[in-house]
Amino acid sequence: MEKDMINASRAHCLVFPYPAQGHINPMVEFSKRLKHKGVEVTLVTTHFISKNIQKEGNSIALETISDGYDEGGRAQAENDQTYLEHFERVGSKNLIELLEKLSRSGRPVNCIVYDPFLPWALDIAKDSELVAVAFLTQSIVVDIIYYHVSKGEMKLPLLEPEVLLPGLPPLEAQDMPSFIYKWGSHPDTFDMLLGQFSNIEKADWVLCNTVYELEQEAVDWMSKIIPMRTVGPTIPSMFLDKQLENDKDYGLSIFKPNVDACLKWLNDRSKGSVVYVSVGSMVILEVEQMQELAWGLRMSNNYFLWVVRASEEAKLPKNFVEETLEKGLVVQWCRQLEVLTHEAVGCFVTHCGWNSTLEALSFGVPMVAMPQWTDQSTNAKYITDFWKMGLKAPMDEKGLVRREGVAHCIREIMEGESGEEIKKNAFKWRKLAKEALDKGGSSDKNIEKFVANLVARSS
Ligand code: UDP
Repeated sequence: MEKDMINASRAHCLVFPYPAQGHINPMVEFSKRLKHKGVEVTLVTTHFISKNIQKEGNSIALETISDGYDEGGRAQAENDQTYLEHFERVGSKNLIELLEKLSRSGRPVNCIVYDPFLPWALDIAKDSELVAVAFLTQSIVVDIIYYHVSKGEMKLPLLEPEVLLPGLPPLEAQDMPSFIYKWGSHPDTFDMLLGQFSNIEKADWVLCNTVYELEQEAVDWMSKIIPMRTVGPTIPSMFLDKQLENDKDYGLSIFKPNVDACLKWLNDRSKGSVVYVSVGSMVILEVEQMQELAWGLRMSNNYFLWVVRASEEAKLPKNFVEETLEKGLVVQWCRQLEVLTHEAVGCFVTHCGWNSTLEALSFGVPMVAMPQWTDQSTNAKYITDFWKMGLKAPMDEKGLVRREGVAHCIREIMEGESGEEIKKNAFKWRKLAKEALDKGGSSDKNIEKFVANLVARSS
C-alpha cells in the first residue's frame, strides 16, 4: 500500500472541467478521490470562475487559465457555440502554457482528465504525449442517446412516438433530452453535447460519473463501443457514511451557500418533515412556473426549504417569503449535500439535473421530478419508472406544472402510499451507492485500476 502511494505520487493529473457548477462538482470530487489514492492533482478553471468562486476547502491545487471571457464567462458570449470556439482558441494556448509552467516548476503533468464538453483538451493531451482521460458528467443512458445522434444513427426530427436504442428500454419521444423532443431548441447547446463524441474514441480512458449497478445494461452496451468505467457517485464519503468526518473540503461553489441559516432551520424541524426544493444552477423558470411552484408548496402545507438563486428571486409572488415564514425558508444557495443528508428532509422537488439525481439516489431521498430542459426529462423517466424513486409532477399543455400537481406529488410522497413504496427502494439505492465506493465496490475498483495504470505509465 505504502509503495503504491509513493509510486502514485509521481502521477500528476490535470483535471479540467467545463466551467459550470454541475461539471465542477463531480470533477472536484473525483480529484479528491484520486488524491486520496496518492495521485497529485491540479484542477484548472477559468479566470472568471476563479474570481467568482467560493473555495470551500483547499485540498486540491487550483490553477486558472483564460477562456477569453475574463469579465463575464459564458454569459458574456452570444451563445454556446461562440463561447466554445473562443474558449478553444484562447484556452488551448493557455492550457499548453500551463502544462509548460507546471513542468518548469518541477511538477510535470502526465495525465489530463478533461470534460468532453471541451474535446480539444484531448488533442492537447495527445500532442503532449500525456494520458488523455474523458470524464463524462451525464448519465450513460443520455450519452447513448447523444452518441447515436452524433453518429447519424438516430434521425431527427423523430418520426416515431417510441425510440428504440440498444442498452435502453423503449422510451417515448417526451422522455428524450429536450433538444430532441423539442427539435430545434438550443441548437448550439445541442452541438456542444454531441461534440463530446467527436474524438472520444481516441481517449486512453473514459470515466463516467455514474454507478454501474444503476445503469448496468446501458454501461454494458456503451462499453462495447467505447470502453468506459463507472466511477460514481462523485460524492464525498463523509456524506455516504456519517461516521466519516475527516473530509472537510466542500469543493468550489460558484454561488455563496447560506450554510448556517439552512442548518439552524433544519435542526428545528422533525424527521422527514421538510420538502427541499431546487432547480440547480442553470434552470431559468418562467415567471408563471415559479409562481405555480410557490403556491403548490404552500398548498401542500409542508415545511419547505427552497433554493431560489438571486437572479430568479424577482419572479417569486409578491410578499411570498414574508407571508410564508412560518412554513418555509427561501435561500439563494445551500450546501445541497448537507441538506439532502439532513434527517429533517423527506422529499426533494428537483429539476433532475444528473448530479442532483445521483445525490438523491445515493442518500435515498424521494423525489418530485420537475424536469425543465436538456437531459432532465430522461433522468426524470428513470427516476420515476425504472429506479422508482419519485413521482413526476404532471405538466399541462403549456408545459407548466400547476400548483395542484406540485401539492399532490408532495403529499403522496410525504404521506401517501407511493411514499411508502419509494422509501423501500430508497434503502436499496443508498446501499448500492455506498457499496460502489467502498473498498472493492464497482466504482472503487475502477478508480484503483485507473490509478494503477497511471502509476505504471508514470514510473
Ligand atoms: N447545489 C448546491 N446547492 C444548491 C443547489 C445545487 O450545492 O443550492 C449543487 C448540487 O448538489 C449539484 C449541483 O449543484 O451537485 C447541481 O448540479 P445538477 O447536475 O443537479 O444541476 P445543474 O446545476 O447542472 O443544472
